[in-house]
Amino acid sequence: MDGSRPGEGWRHELQMAITDPLEALAELGWETPHPERLREVHRQFTVRIPRYYFDLIDRNDPTDPIALQCLPQLQEIIEDQGDIEDAVGDRARSPVPGIIHKYPNRVIFLVANSCTMYCRYCFRKPVPRGVSLDGLRDGLQQAFHYVDNHPEIEEVILSGGDPLVLETPHLEKTLRRLRHIPHVQVIRIHSRVPVTLPSRMDDTLVELLGELRPLRLVTHFNHPRELTPLARAGIERLIRRGISVHNQTVLLKGINDNTPTLTHLFRELYWWGVTPYYLHHCDRTPGTAPFRLSIQRGRALMAELRTTLSGPAIPQYVIDIPGGYGKVPINADHFTELGPGLWQIRTPTGLFVQYRDIESSA
Ligand SMILES: *Cc1c(COP(=O)(O)O)cnc(C)c1O
Ligand code: SF4
Repeated sequence: MDGSRPGEGWRHELQMAITDPLEALAELGWETPHPERLREVHRQFTVRIPRYYFDLIDRNDPTDPIALQCLPQLQEIIEDQGDIEDAVGDRARSPVPGIIHKYPNRVIFLVANSCTMYCRYCFRKPVPRGVSLDGLRDGLQQAFHYVDNHPEIEEVILSGGDPLVLETPHLEKTLRRLRHIPHVQVIRIHSRVPVTLPSRMDDTLVELLGELRPLRLVTHFNHPRELTPLARAGIERLIRRGISVHNQTVLLKGINDNTPTLTHLFRELYWWGVTPYYLHHCDRTPGTAPFRLSIQRGRALMAELRTTLSGPAIPQYVIDIPGGYGKVPINADHFTELGPGLWQIRTPTGLFVQYRDIESSA
């Protein structure tokens, strides 16, 4: 008995996900030098990989970008000098359990404390262990009331964990409750499910989301190898039902930190009708050190994307610094002020030209 109902084949698929790191490595035929330490990584940062995603791994490549995102590494439990607890300042900005309120007009609403897959670089890394979602205990009542009582909140962003791990009836109840709040104009769902478990994007879900428009889905593709026909079919169903789909990518060392990979990724998402929205600089959450690269490197990549990608296919490169200030753009800087009104500009093709800025006297 797996408890799944007809049309909820994704539940079964999720129950069959790989949760034993040693089993995963054995199946790939990869060696496991320190099995007991790998189990310790798993104890601290749970392993969960849907079979669909696992099957995308190229077992002939020990540095495979799919494997690096889902298989645990020993470095995850080694403290790094760059680690920061509460790396993006969310804890400081949580007025009630389940809500993160950093910008006046929009809140993050945490509705789930698990994900279909546990990404090794996740900035909410403690979440899979259920540490930070106290709000779920009271059925999110405090969180709903908070939104009810704050008319300045125009947009509610469902996040977690991953909101789409909730069973459809539960998700529906949450979404409808939010839809009935008069000042909430838009609902947004942040989910990696279209990437890690495309079977979840079934007709029942897509129909529900379509009905609750205006609704936006922000998904999370990091690498062109995740752009499979199955993933595309799920995205197409959403778009056909009138749901705008955006994408955020995390810039990850050894996974997507080069121009051809990012170009391929954003260009194809753009072709699919998905808007590349953010490229996130990797946060300094403990356990994510193996994936971090420098801002300088990220900006150099952004400068190159300016020539390889069409304008609407270029995401904003952003960083969320500690302290809860919110995301700040760190796009490549093409302008340097040489003197009052005199600018040196780096053109998209890398030439340097000067430009005099003259303000109208009208
Ligand atoms: C990222 C984020 C949002 C959404 O910001 P957008 O720039 O609108 O995508 C809202 N609240 C918090 C706390 C966030 O971290
Ligand atoms: S799906 Fe998102 S929240 Fe969940 S582990 Fe991956 S990055 Fe973190």
